[in-house]
Amino acid sequence: MSEVIVSTVANARKFVDPLRTADGERRASVRLKRLRTLWFNTGTLCNLACGHCYIESSPHNDRLVHLSRAEARGFLDELETLGAGTEEIGFTGGEPFMNPDLLGMLRDSLAAGYRALVLTNAMRPMMKRADELLKLRHRYGDQLVVRVSIDHYRPELHEQERGRRSWRPAMQGLRWLSDNGFAVHVAGRRRWGDAEAALRDGFQTLFSTEGIDLDAQCPQRLTLFPEMDERTDTPEVTAKCWALLGVCPDDLMCASSRMVVKRKGAVAPEVVSCTLLPYQPEFTLGVRLADSLGEVLLNHPHCSRFCVLGGGRCSG
Ligand code: SF4
Repeated sequence: MSEVIVSTVANARKFVDPLRTADGERRASVRLKRLRTLWFNTGTLCNLACGHCYIESSPHNDRLVHLSRAEARGFLDELETLGAGTEEIGFTGGEPFMNPDLLGMLRDSLAAGYRALVLTNAMRPMMKRADELLKLRHRYGDQLVVRVSIDHYRPELHEQERGRRSWRPAMQGLRWLSDNGFAVHVAGRRRWGDAEAALRDGFQTLFSTEGIDLDAQCPQRLTLFPEMDERTDTPEVTAKCWALLGVCPDDLMCASSRMVVKRKGAVAPEVVSCTLLPYQPEFTLGVRLADSLGEVLLNHPHCSRFCVLGGGRCSG
């Protein structure tokens, strides 16, 4: 690995030239294979201010403003004409249920035949829309998937990240989803260093105790995310590394996804490479999906730390 990945160069020289690593090697890139998932970032406002939110969502962060239903519909219309083989529309924030247009956007996506995946903390903003959400569940069944963030099965660790009194409302929301038959997934985190098997067992005990119908051994139902600590050093990834690392570029999120964001002050939403890099101009690919279907150069520490070396994926 040390021959093909630059790990000894000072941080300041890394991730600068989009085409070459600090050692002059050709930088790795990823081609879009198929636009399987289109994500809508609904805005960065959130009811919580988590300690390690990669997108820095909070009750005050509106760097990404609320996407409107009309704007989202424009992209759904474009998808139809593109014929890109898209299966899924994902909704992430911030807290998506704080966007007043979320239910409309969900309805439009489901009516167009896509699977809709919405990421939420399942707290009060979601429960305020419970009646409308239930109507979508009754109409579209498992075509609608709700993924709830529960950072750890131990309440004190979840609250260490999400703040005091955040555990009980999240459990109530998760149980409400389960009791009402929603296709529900959970996203946990590996930031406390537990072995995966122990984490899955711990979550399984929690789900059984709380009466939540979810198989914690299933990686699709319980996703466990690696950590994205910006302060730790990470190597650059060169074009030679795929075979040596045994990583297939087609498995990375930017090979099968794009995300629509609306930046504060922008006249129109824009398309970025993935859910992990919403603010970086060099990962902004255009204002239309058609502009965004090319290659992405992996010129960011997240590409290395989270995707290539960490095995992280955000979809499904
Ligand atoms: S962060 Fe991951 S998904 Fe995003 S552009 Fe980099 S490698 Fe691709």
